[in-house]
Amino acid sequence: MEYEVVIGLEVHIHLSTKTKAFCGCSTEFGAQPNTHVCPVCLGFPGSLPVLNKTALEYAVKVGLAINCSVQEYTKFDRKHYYYPDLPKNYQISQYDLPVSKDGFLDISVDNNLKRIRIKRAHLEEDAGKLIHTDNVSFVDLNRAGIPLLEIVSEPDINSPQEAYAYLTALKSIVEYLDVSDCDMEKGSLRCDANISIRKKGETILGTKAELKNMNSFKGVKDALAYEIVRQENALENGQAIVQETRLWDAKELKTLPMRTKEEARDYRYFPEPDLPPFIIKQDNINQIKQSIPELPEEKSQRFMKEYGLSEYDAGILVSNKNNAAYAEDCFKAYKDKNKKSVANWLIGPLAGAASSMASEISKVNISPDNLCELIDLVEHKQVISNLTGKAVLEEMASSGKTAVMIIQEKNLAQISDEGALDQEIGAVIDANAKSVADYRAGKTNALMFLVGQVMKKTGGKANPKIVQEMLKRRLESA
Ligand SMILES: [Zn+2]
Repeated sequence: MEYEVVIGLEVHIHLSTKTKAFCGCSTEFGAQPNTHVCPVCLGFPGSLPVLNKTALEYAVKVGLAINCSVQEYTKFDRKHYYYPDLPKNYQISQYDLPVSKDGFLDISVDNNLKRIRIKRAHLEEDAGKLIHTDNVSFVDLNRAGIPLLEIVSEPDINSPQEAYAYLTALKSIVEYLDVSDCDMEKGSLRCDANISIRKKGETILGTKAELKNMNSFKGVKDALAYEIVRQENALENGQAIVQETRLWDAKELKTLPMRTKEEARDYRYFPEPDLPPFIIKQDNINQIKQSIPELPEEKSQRFMKEYGLSEYDAGILVSNKNNAAYAEDCFKAYKDKNKKSVANWLIGPLAGAASSMASEISKVNISPDNLCELIDLVEHKQVISNLTGKAVLEEMASSGKTAVMIIQEKNLAQISDEGALDQEIGAVIDANAKSVADYRAGKTNALMFLVGQVMKKTGGKANPKIVQEMLKRRLESA
């Protein structure tokens, strides 16, 4: 039986405001437990919430960037549930009038462009953190009340790969907007996935499972892939899928049932009586729109146009905001009109050096000017070979020295002077009569063997292009 996979994602993003959504407590990560709390976020009777203006602005900004229509009239609702991480016993969230709705995000998987519709993006407060040990549980309420933006996609995602691409694109946009650090390890970006399968051609959605507890994008991809197989096997064996919440176990690499899923009615939503509805004027929306920087997709198009990059190269370079800025500085610093070789160095050797230091290209200790100087020494001046260039780059990254300094110190410059190579070439020709004869008999491969011999004799320092030209000249003239 062939099945179709239907996935919808709910992404929660911590908005990086200095204070919480409805009180003045700090949102700083990593403080002593229960030190960033006050009567409001502890839910003391009689305390009243006040909306953080910046949180609302950030929510609008994200909404606009993901092509949503921002609602001029928005309100908050109480969502009830009973866990110790939420001392009020309800969460301030939004139900029927979210900040923004009806957006979309375009993703690309295997060169296919696909539009994923976004249902809504609403503002709410985070809950605290529960830490369970063998026989006791701890509650840390520092996180309770931190502003969260929940972005809900339509069930337009049809594979784990598409889910991964969607998350990557969304994270990249939010990072460009500078409204969240999107750090999954700190919990500032979390993702739940609803997944169901149905027979190909069916129009009614299958029963879905909600997956939680994935703490990386790869975890989301793996959990979805596992769940597809689990649901397919269940249907093949004539079992019904139960609507439930399942937890991803990253060690065992499987999902496990946690609880049957609540329905909206279980949450008993009603309008938050302590907050007025909010009106966001079109002027304000326009103002926020003005403050949105060039986003990844736009930047990628511009890189292709201005610097002649391929779509693939541009896509890699713009996915991270800092890397994109660094790449652009390099393109500007490089004198040659053709920037393709700069892109190659950024994506190849520099990215390699960065990842070996568990870092990203913009954080490697090489200035755009110094990188361009190295590229120029390899590509134009041919002072060093490509291979030596890569070694020099690694040394630049670890020592902070310039390419010229390293080449001089280690005496790495290629021998490009014909006079200096003349004797070596003569010796190689004399010692390899058979290859010489082969070449003259039309076996052109023999030339590369002779080039190799000269390289060997010079300790790899001869300029291979010049050696090849000189050899050719000598063999063809005599
Ligand atoms: Zn507080």
